[in-house]
Amino acid sequence: MPKPPSSESVEQSGAFRAFIAQKGLRATRQRMAVFEAARSIQGHYTAEDLMKKARALDRSVSRATIYRAIPLLIGSSIVREVDVGRDHKYYLAEAGSATFRAQLICESCETIVEVEAPFMEWYGKAVAAKHGMRPISQKLQVTALCERCQKRKTARL
Ligand SMILES: [Zn+2]
Repeated sequence: MPKPPSSESVEQSGAFRAFIAQKGLRATRQRMAVFEAARSIQGHYTAEDLMKKARALDRSVSRATIYRAIPLLIGSSIVREVDVGRDHKYYLAEAGSATFRAQLICESCETIVEVEAPFMEWYGKAVAAKHGMRPISQKLQVTALCERCQKRKTARL
């Protein structure tokens, strides 16, 4: 038996539909499949991953649908874009927390770990204020080697 949707997902689907309508667009079956896919993937994913998942839900979802739906998902705070300076961007289900997030990125396997870093937000504000500036955005990304990749490297030596 399918699980009844949680109140959170009903709320988010409402927010997504409202955002689409505000843009003068329709909540088509394909767009809703992309929405469902975006909500169901755990952790960070690429547009390609999202396309595979959305196509499993609705085979008529095209690549263009994905690329047009992503800004709608971001605009309605369903997902967050994570740019780690690679050719492709990563996406992550928005946790609804306003806490500043930092990313640890494994250089070798591209595993991304999100950590809450409220002190960084405070630091950015404090430093900017000292120079009479108001921060608009900031990010903290640490390039690292995950435990698995460290072991693999040691084994090869
Ligand atoms: Zn790794």
